[in-house]
Amino acid sequence: MKLTVLGCYAATPRTFTNPTSQVLEIGGQLFLIDCGEGTQVELRRNKVKFSRIKHVFISHLHGDHFYGLVGLVSTFRLLNRESELHIYVPKGIKEIITLQLKLANSWTNFPLFFHELGSRSPQILLDDKKVSVETIPLDHRIYTNGFLFKEKAGDRKLLMDKVLNYDIDVVYYRGIKKGKDAVLDDGRVVPNKELTGDPDPPKSYAFCSDTKYYPEIIRQIKGVTVLYHEATFLEEHASLAGSTKHSTAREAALIAKEAGVGTLVLGHYSTRYENLSLFQAQAEEVFGRVLLADDGKIFSFR
Ligand SMILES: [Zn+2]
Ligand SMILES: [Zn+2]
Repeated sequence: MKLTVLGCYAATPRTFTNPTSQVLEIGGQLFLIDCGEGTQVELRRNKVKFSRIKHVFISHLHGDHFYGLVGLVSTFRLLNRESELHIYVPKGIKEIITLQLKLANSWTNFPLFFHELGSRSPQILLDDKKVSVETIPLDHRIYTNGFLFKEKAGDRKLLMDKVLNYDIDVVYYRGIKKGKDAVLDDGRVVPNKELTGDPDPPKSYAFCSDTKYYPEIIRQIKGVTVLYHEATFLEEHASLAGSTKHSTAREAALIAKEAGVGTLVLGHYSTRYENLSLFQAQAEEVFGRVLLADDGKIFSFR
């Protein structure tokens, strides 16, 4: 599982910082999460292939989370994209984007699907053989969802040094990886556990931005491999966090601790702060495994 942070600052773009956008690679698929201004440039800078993006998830309709979307859709058109693009968004974006395309007389030449969201309960958005995605309803000034990405358990791993001890035709490897015993030509049975090892434990990723401190999400994100949680403010501005329905680094850490997550990644910092290390320090008073997102940072989780 790999997370590429394209932008992780609140509110306005600046010379060296971008509003929210990130790319998650999980279960062999690539997902774009939020699409603030500058997303296209950062995709290029980070060498993410545009054609691999088939699903875009937008948390809410504040500009720092989706103002890059129409630009990206327009670029896909100019690149002669043919494959489907699915956009999961709060109700309203379809109207905004289609109006922009209409006024520019620039309809897409590829199938564009809007999946408009309005539910206040978790909803499954995507569920295939390798991964599922569901909404995490959050509490912010407007209707907002986080997203929970869950990898499914993979096949068992062939222990090739053991397999090669027997005369097993390669056509049976697939079945063995699925858990079958091997039957040799002379009728002997080799138990599966002798030939395979456990698959890697499935990974999961919870993206929670923007939101006030909202313990209701803990049950849903319990034990995730990685939690990305917004931390817009430091403790000195806790009252601002309350009035703007954002979180402090400490509050993000409380959620991480209660949910027993593997790693907490902080982001969505207010641009008023120069020194991000204070976010880490304040979170670490509560929870031990804290990483700071920053634009252009790539995290790999094994
Ligand atoms: Zn925001
Ligand atoms: Zn917001």
